[in-house]
Amino acid sequence: MQKITTALLSLPLAWTTSALAENQWSYEGNTSPEHWGELSKQWFFCNKGMYQSPIDIRNPIAGNLPPLNFKFSTRAKSIINNGHTIQIAVEDGNSFMLDRQRWELKQFHFHTPSENHINGQSFPLEVHFVQANSDNELVVIAVMLVAGKANPALEMMLAALPQQQNQEKALNQPFSLESLFPQDKHYYRFSGSLTTPPCTEGVIWLVMKQPVEASETQLAHFAQALRHANNRPLQPLHGRQITQ
Ligand SMILES: [Zn+2]
Repeated sequence: MQKITTALLSLPLAWTTSALAENQWSYEGNTSPEHWGELSKQWFFCNKGMYQSPIDIRNPIAGNLPPLNFKFSTRAKSIINNGHTIQIAVEDGNSFMLDRQRWELKQFHFHTPSENHINGQSFPLEVHFVQANSDNELVVIAVMLVAGKANPALEMMLAALPQQQNQEKALNQPFSLESLFPQDKHYYRFSGSLTTPPCTEGVIWLVMKQPVEASETQLAHFAQALRHANNRPLQPLHGRQITQ
């Protein structure tokens, strides 16, 4: 896997602290996704990358993937609506093993509608769990949400969400991720990128096959809080293989 330099990595993980950088790109107008690659020299992957995310997940091959041994409880540090997404930062201490490496959960955040598609299907909401290893390489676990019964984890988040954008609120409390994961732990795996500038490649993507439910009201609250769609358009596969 490609190495991600600390300089490139610091941008997305520093969302909560870097108000200046986060205003330099958007999902609309002349700083929209098709322009990201022109906005900064360091963001060239956004235009020139060959293994970009998100993708439409189709025709997976059998990859004999190990079960996901993820811990479904964590300690939430803070919550913010940074104008690009709603993000929860977590305390260290939630890690899992993949490819004989330890990956530590750093934060999770949301996209509405979903960024990845599954067999051409888009979903109203997608959550991204961002994990890093000691070399600052990344694994993103994605879960799709569909309309159904109310989701306890989302309820807690919506209740804690600050009214104003870019206002970080401390949480310092245990947080169960259980209701943000499906019962069925099968997933797709492929190589991709960050879906926001700098669009760095070498990210391992694990997308859960089964969606989880959230109520129509919760889905509408998310869309309302974000004020605009925050999904990057689908990117070409360029021969990448998807395993399952
Ligand atoms: Zn994301």
